[in-house]
Amino acid sequence: MLSSSQTLRELSPLNDPWDPIGSLVKYGEHRLTSVEMTVSNLCNMRCEHCAVGDTLVMLEPPKLPLELMLSRLEEVEHLETISITGGEPTFSDRTVDEYMLPLLKWARKRGIRSQINSNVTLPYNRYEKLAPYLDVMHISFNYTNADDFHNIGFAKAGHAVPRHTAARMYERMIDNARRLVGEGVLVSAESMINYRTHEQIDEIHRLIVEMGCQRHEVHPMYPSSFARDLPMITKEQMRAAIEKLLNARDKSVWMLFGTLPFYHCSDSGEERDLLKRLANEPNVSVRNDPDGRNRLNVNLFSGDVFVTDFADVPSFGNIKKSQLDELFARWLRHPLAQGVNCYCPAASCCGPNLLVKEMYYSDVDFHKRSAKM
Ligand code: SF4
Repeated sequence: MLSSSQTLRELSPLNDPWDPIGSLVKYGEHRLTSVEMTVSNLCNMRCEHCAVGDTLVMLEPPKLPLELMLSRLEEVEHLETISITGGEPTFSDRTVDEYMLPLLKWARKRGIRSQINSNVTLPYNRYEKLAPYLDVMHISFNYTNADDFHNIGFAKAGHAVPRHTAARMYERMIDNARRLVGEGVLVSAESMINYRTHEQIDEIHRLIVEMGCQRHEVHPMYPSSFARDLPMITKEQMRAAIEKLLNARDKSVWMLFGTLPFYHCSDSGEERDLLKRLANEPNVSVRNDPDGRNRLNVNLFSGDVFVTDFADVPSFGNIKKSQLDELFARWLRHPLAQGVNCYCPAASCCGPNLLVKEMYYSDVDFHKRSAKM
């Protein structure tokens, strides 16, 4: 960890501490540098694509004491980043005041970068108090207008949500994002490439730029738990959407691509060409998947530790009993981790995401492949 007197390098396509490649190069093996904490199972929305939609509730149990979480974070030898997620983590004022603020203040004091995953649709005062201590506000943005927001954001509500209510929230989200940018927070808007967005990703990008977001994050959508019944698009359609976006994008905005199903070891020349284009474009980065490579997820209600907040992989330990570095070492020995831990330095690639491997490459032994550069 850094002391508070050391200055942190600015976050940029060349400095993304959430990318596990940095610690892999530095230490010669994967290390735990990132801890994600789930602090809420409550949310004011019910998005069609929500990765944790199955776990959302109307009332939630108490959380573990903050002191236990802080002491487990203190023990992580190479901690560089924390992320706070939900549900909507700011849904309850008490969670904001009693967990999120102290965690962010702790991180800022230790020179650790922080991120919150939020829909930023709640009143601005919740975000305002977090802003001075926060590095990245990560929001979802898959819309071309308020109607898209209404249809996507409440698809799983189970009851009709009036259009005017959704439209007000949509406006507030845009306004909140703008205000946070004004406060110096890096607002990173994430879009998924899926059956709804793949043909209008350029228009979505335009609105994200208009909102003032400094980063546009793009991930293909894969069918995990809550979103398992959504129509899938092909890898070719994903590739076409990325090309379309690269052709239309505003080059002053950092584009971060992640969890792509394409690798430099692919037999497809077209897929390798796209990766080459991504590597050569200014202000573009392709992040290796952090889940289980440099990051673990802690559920703050139970203390259970997971590879990600939405993984089908069961918990492999609990912070009430074990240190996080110890649990990370345990995970690295897991056969699932071993199946995706290939590494091609020439391509700055450290293997596929677990879900992607299962979906597209279940019979492929990545240890027998290497990047064709
Ligand atoms: S690290 Fe693995 S996935 Fe990446 S190019 Fe090499 S063999 Fe392929």
